[in-house]
Amino acid sequence: MFKHVSRFCRKMFHIEEQKKSRYISISRNEHNISRKDISENALKVLYRLNKQGYEAYLVGGCIRDLLLGKTPKDFDIATNATPEQVQKTFRNCRLVGKRFRLAHIMFGKEIIEVATFRGEHSNQDEQNNIAKRSQSGMLLRDNVYGTIEQDAVRRDFTMNAFYYSIKDFTLRDYCGGLKDLQNGIIRLIGDPKVRYREDPVRMLRTIRFAAKLDMQIEPTTAEPIKHLAPLLKNIPSARLFDESLKLLQSGNGYNTYLLLRKYHLFEQLFPVIERLFTQNNNSYLEKMIEQVLKNTDYRITNKQRVNPAFLFAAFFWYPIIEQAQLTCVESGLLFHDAFSMAINDVLSEQCRIIAIPKRLTTIMGDIWRLQLRMKKREGKRAFAILEHPKFRAAYDLLEMRASIEKGELLALAKWWDEFQHTSVEKRIAMVKQLSKTNKRRAKH
Ligand code: ATP
Ligand code: MG
Repeated sequence: MFKHVSRFCRKMFHIEEQKKSRYISISRNEHNISRKDISENALKVLYRLNKQGYEAYLVGGCIRDLLLGKTPKDFDIATNATPEQVQKTFRNCRLVGKRFRLAHIMFGKEIIEVATFRGEHSNQDEQNNIAKRSQSGMLLRDNVYGTIEQDAVRRDFTMNAFYYSIKDFTLRDYCGGLKDLQNGIIRLIGDPKVRYREDPVRMLRTIRFAAKLDMQIEPTTAEPIKHLAPLLKNIPSARLFDESLKLLQSGNGYNTYLLLRKYHLFEQLFPVIERLFTQNNNSYLEKMIEQVLKNTDYRITNKQRVNPAFLFAAFFWYPIIEQAQLTCVESGLLFHDAFSMAINDVLSEQCRIIAIPKRLTTIMGDIWRLQLRMKKREGKRAFAILEHPKFRAAYDLLEMRASIEKGELLALAKWWDEFQHTSVEKRIAMVKQLSKTNKRRAKH
């Protein structure tokens, strides 16, 4: 996996020896990054900024991934131009973010993110409202601009603080990232406790990269997480929604989930689920989460589409059932009514932490309600269910439930499997058969 890094790192050691400066510079023939691996749009942005007299570098995860021989998810740029100067340079530019102001250069579907070098904060900056910290040390605003050196140490991990120049094709390593990358180590820059307090989402990023890159978390980077995990409560729910998708839908969801549990982060994100975890780790709920995440990883590896509504529908199915059953016992409500109440309660508790958008919760509701409807198949019901736009997703959830719970659900899932794949005549016969069986049962 690290073959690219090790290949050029060997060449690099002599450079490291001779250079005791603030960064290690690796020239074009000593690294494996080539222009053909870089997005054309990112190259355009770099050239244009350079032409206007600004410094501009490819930075962060894209360089890390190229060094590892992986395809980057996106290409980010760091520059000494302010967001306003970037905006003046590009017509297709939009400024975004209040906490961390950025320029987005839009090329159809592709967005190139351009960030101005960040610097250290002074008291004056707080007064001018360009920097702000909460009592817990969290950065509420980080719009103080600085030099490339200052920018490098404000990034999260050593492996994310590389800068690549298109002017001379050199690569700069400011924080020892090459060595860490070569050794497969994830290390926060600076004092981990301070850096996690500044931005608790960095804890999630540590876990995400550990799972994605199959790397070890350096002990002082790992150690504070369990203790500081509750700080995630301070993160806006919309940001946690974005992060949760990156965690669970990037192709390493199952391993990420195991690490999130190990570091007590899962309970911060999904308390509704965590409350039902068991000692032996073998409840229906735990089996469901394992299965849906493994299926999702498989689909992503095979370039199949995944829908977060389905993932979340599977996540919360058993918590909803559990709560509905409890309400029935406690209040004597009909199961159907208790079930609707449970959907509302579980979603409202969860959405306070992770803002799952309405367009997804609507689909989740359909998938859940179809689970109840799929039991009643007589008359025209089965045909109506088959026509429902969310039938396929509901059937997939039914199938997973059947493989977990076994018993009667296995027969029900098999029936629906046959019903959807057979001719209309056979479907009519299957429904008739159901009525006969029911009558026979009623007689006995
Ligand atoms: P990927 O895009 O594969 O998820 P990435 O490292 O590129 O990984 P981005 O979210 O695209 O992640 O961020 C780009 C870069 O910005 C990072 O590599 C890092 O240098 C910096 N960065 C992102 N988030 C933070 C953060 N919370 N704190 C400090 N630096 C950050
Ligand atoms: Mg990125």
